[in-house]
Amino acid sequence: MALIVQKFGGTSVASTDRIKSVAKRVARWQAAGHDVIVVPSAMAGETNRLIALAKEISPSPDPRELDVIASTGEQVTIALLAMAMHGEGLKARSFTGSQVTVLTDSAFTKARILKIDETRIRKALAEGNVVVVAGFQGADEDGNITTLGRGGSDTSAVALAAALKADECQIYTDVDGVYTTDPRVEPEARKLDTITFEEMLEMASLGSKVLQIRSVEFAGKYKVKLRVLSSFEDEGEGTLITVEEKRTMEEPVISGIAFNRDEAKLTMLGVPDRPGIAYQILGPIADANIDVDMIIQNIGRDDTTDFSFTVHRSDYSKALAILETVRQKIGARDLSGDTGTCKVSAVGVGMRSHPGVASKMFGALAKEGINLQMISTSEIKISVVIEEKYLELAVRVLHKAFGLEKPPKSKLGLTGRDETDIITPS
Ligand code: ADP
Ligand code: ASP
Ligand code: MG
Repeated sequence: MALIVQKFGGTSVASTDRIKSVAKRVARWQAAGHDVIVVPSAMAGETNRLIALAKEISPSPDPRELDVIASTGEQVTIALLAMAMHGEGLKARSFTGSQVTVLTDSAFTKARILKIDETRIRKALAEGNVVVVAGFQGADEDGNITTLGRGGSDTSAVALAAALKADECQIYTDVDGVYTTDPRVEPEARKLDTITFEEMLEMASLGSKVLQIRSVEFAGKYKVKLRVLSSFEDEGEGTLITVEEKRTMEEPVISGIAFNRDEAKLTMLGVPDRPGIAYQILGPIADANIDVDMIIQNIGRDDTTDFSFTVHRSDYSKALAILETVRQKIGARDLSGDTGTCKVSAVGVGMRSHPGVASKMFGALAKEGINLQMISTSEIKISVVIEEKYLELAVRVLHKAFGLEKPPKSKLGLTGRDETDIITPS
């Protein structure tokens, strides 16, 4: 008998029929003697609808009130799921984040979980209930409702699994695992049996929305066994996120291609080239709580230089307005901006021991005439900023260039998967 946390994403609870089939799946696990905590998202499209409603009233709604409305989507699904479980003859109780309590900080719309009180959950489990906890939400110490950022139900599930020391956290979604790239962009993408935490962290931070990045951070930090599976298929093994490398004898150099459409690029031209200038430009951007991604400063010429960086597209207008003030203050020549950019990245721990990955990547993109506007690298990833219209092409070209459609070769015929790791309902 194990304690399992099962998270179901928006498409997995998109209709009352889907909700009933989730209840049936949970019933199988409970019948096998496991304790189950279920963490649903809102029904597909619902969070977008709620945010759009708020924006009809005010273009920049008060963040506290935005969280009050955005959190209601999950309140609907927890109750519907509990009812569907009753229909299956199960005992089930639903709780909102503030009822549990999932305690967060007060950063509305992107709050961080600080602590989870297990008392009510443990009690309900002990009484034989399936416990259904709303994803994506919590409450701060003053009792204000908070939300955890888009895709935040993944993080709710992992945090609950960590707090309750669950045996496994299962993320049920509309694909049957983590793929070498988004299978909706590259139909030849291949499902991975395992991926390391490090790689998954990079993939998530570089735009693969199959897991919210904070959920991967949490799972790594608290050693939560994390698995991504399909809610549309019967029990497959999905993808297990692993701590150490136990994949194949001959590990692939690149494990996946990630991309992010939502990049915007800002450039300040003719910036006086003197110490402290990067701080003068980026300080006010950080003060406005805008995350900066890639940064490039060119070689100075005639005592001036050009300075570029990227931000999330939703922060573009705010960043541009701030930069204009900075430009006047420091006497830079001009400003330019581009919202038609995107970022494509190749990720793999094998890159550490294999030189030449960058040149292979640049060569493949050059062959298609794709211009690289910015480049950034780390030990296990290479990212490029390109024109957005080339995104799909770039992803497919790189997927092919690194042979990701083919399973990695194994000298001993091992898949690397540890069969004893798999928990099944019965
Ligand atoms: P949910 O609503 O279940 O949380 P999401 O839409 O947030 O689902 O995440 C699942 C989606 O992530 C998939 O439908 C797929 O299009 C996308 N995705 C992006 N990159 C990957 C990847 N490398 N592997 C699998 N899915 C990916
Ligand atoms: N419903 C929230 C969202 O759409 C949280 C989630 O789905 O994980 O972002
Ligand atoms: Mg999601």
